[in-house]
Amino acid sequence: MLDKFYKLCRQIEKKLNHQHCYLCHCANEKLICDYCLSDAEFERFPVPGTDLLEYPVIAKHLYNINYESLRSIGTYSDILAGLIKKLKFSKQPIASAALTLLFEAYVLRRIMQTEKLPEKLIPIPLSEIRLFKRGFNQAALLAEDIGKIAKIPVMHALKRHKHTRQQSSLGKEARLDNLFDAFKLVKPLPYKHVCLIDDVVTTGATLSSAVETIKAKTPDIKVSIWCMAVAEIGKD
Ligand SMILES: [Zn+2]
Repeated sequence: MLDKFYKLCRQIEKKLNHQHCYLCHCANEKLICDYCLSDAEFERFPVPGTDLLEYPVIAKHLYNINYESLRSIGTYSDILAGLIKKLKFSKQPIASAALTLLFEAYVLRRIMQTEKLPEKLIPIPLSEIRLFKRGFNQAALLAEDIGKIAKIPVMHALKRHKHTRQQSSLGKEARLDNLFDAFKLVKPLPYKHVCLIDDVVTTGATLSSAVETIKAKTPDIKVSIWCMAVAEIGKD
């Protein structure tokens, strides 16, 4: 029911915002104008589209790297932080489409040139309670939008069967306790390569927990991570 409501909101938002760039508000047919798209800068960030696990400055912040690669548009700042906040806290689902355009321009095109795409996109789920409060899962919206562009089907293969506390409110140790056994695999994954989709990666503990759940059942599967922003880089 809520899902349908947000789909409708998205369609209305799309119509209303159609004539203006979502970022600079200049008159434009596109959701993000060419200027904003080409001019986006992601400070102190490796070349977007490359595997971030190859960069110690990022990898050292990540907990238990049990996935094969990590891609992100940039750091959690400026444009990206603004769009993600609009998506999650101001409930503007169209921000997902804007993030997807940036992801396509800066990350996806490069991946498409260099490697085989994953067979399925799996959004990181919210708990039922958080889903009810927010009305939609931002990772699922992103997965749908990216999936349409990359032509990869979205699969809701994970469930969060425990209501974990908001990770951002916890210290490192508490974050890990909070996530222990948080996910459940609800669909079989007879694939070689899948990709988890999330909005922001901070320590990677949530993703690592989800990957652990997937690999417990399908140990040989390759898991990539695509997210919109990483939060810890550049803090020290
Ligand atoms: Zn613009």
